[in-house]
Formats: sequence, structure tokens, C-alpha cells
Amino acid sequence: MDSALAQLLHRRKTLPEHDQLAAAERDRDEVEAALIEAETEVSDLSTDQVKAEADLEPVRQRLARDQERIADGTVADPRQLESLIAEVDHLQKRISDLEDSELEIMEKLETATARANELTGKADQSRAEVKRLTGERDAKVTAINSEAAERKTERSTLQPDLPADLITLYERIRGGHGGVGAAELRNRRCTGCQLEINAAELREFAAAPADEVLRCEECSRILVRTEHSGL
Ligand SMILES: [Zn+2]
Repeated sequence: MDSALAQLLHRRKTLPEHDQLAAAERDRDEVEAALIEAETEVSDLSTDQVKAEADLEPVRQRLARDQERIADGTVADPRQLESLIAEVDHLQKRISDLEDSELEIMEKLETATARANELTGKADQSRAEVKRLTGERDAKVTAINSEAAERKTERSTLQPDLPADLITLYERIRGGHGGVGAAELRNRRCTGCQLEINAAELREFAAAPADEVLRCEECSRILVRTEHSGL
């Protein structure tokens, strides 16, 4: 029973779902970090675009005003008119430059937005995968736990039937031997340490009364005799 219990605990600890879940959580964390980065970029570029638009606005207004003044003929002085025309040229060039950089920002924003959208989808998938694997792992752990609880119940019902000094000895050995204090003697071998019992000892074991507690010389576990012991 203790052997079965130890195996169950080992199985619970080494479930492949633990590693799969850890890997899925790492993936999710990476995707989420990349998503935050992409969202920050989108937000920064949106701010840049608003600023670029704000920079353009007064220049456009000035250009419109200048063009209006040229068109309505209120500027009579030829030199003043000439400088107004020169300013219009300059403002048009300035607007063209500002529009170019705004366009550049908008292209970057489009790329960043597409990336953020893609990562949002990936993050959703990653979170769903973590949830799925958590569910699978929890189901397996729960199943193992209930099996272990059954074994423990069986163990505690068996205990009162055994002599107290034997239990004391067993528990003492168990403490130092990976949780298993007794092993089957099978085909002349201790199944606790897997070593073969020598011939002289086997003869002693064969002659020993059925209620004598036999011990493995090598690992000192209590040896349990069965019809397969080879005695
Ligand atoms: Zn042994």
C-alpha cells in the first residue's frame, strides 16, 4: 500500500501536464509582454499623429489667409504682394513636408495596429491553452488525490490488525527507505533493493517460522514471503 501510495505521489509530481502547463504559461507571458509593447507603440503613434495634425493646422490656416489676400486684390504694393507669394510657396512646401511625416506616422500606426490585433488574438489563444491545460492537470491531480485517499483509508483499516511492534519497526525502516519499509521476496530477490539473497541466507529464510520477521541484509527492509519467493 505504501508502495502504491509512493507511486501515486510520484506520478502526481511528474505529470507531463506540469511541464506542458509551465511551457504554455511562458508562451502566454511572452505574448502578453509583446502585446503590451505593441499597444504602447499604437498609443505613442496615435499621440504623434494627433500632434502632427495639430502642427499642420495653423500652417494651413495661414496659407488660406495668404491665398485669400492675394486673390481679393487688397494688397496693392507689388513688393508686399511678391513677398506674400513667396510665403505661399514656402507654406506649401512646409505643408507638404508635414503631410509626408504625418503619412509616415500613419503607416507605422497601421502596422503597429495590425500587430497589436494579431497579438490580441494570440494572447486569447494562449490564455485559453493555459486554462485548458490547468483543467487537465487539475483533473488528473484530483483523480490521483482521491486514489491516494482510498489507499490511505485502506492502510488505516489494516493497521489495527498488525502487531504494534511490527508496525513500529516497519515505520522506522520506512523513514529511511523512500517511504517503503517492506518488500516482497520474489525469486530469491529483495524487490526493495533488487539484490539477490545469498544461498546460506535463503536456507535460513526457508527454515524460519511463518511469523518470523525476515529482513534484507542489504537494505534492511522487512521481507515478505509469498509463494513466488523461491524458497
Ligand atoms: Zn533489500
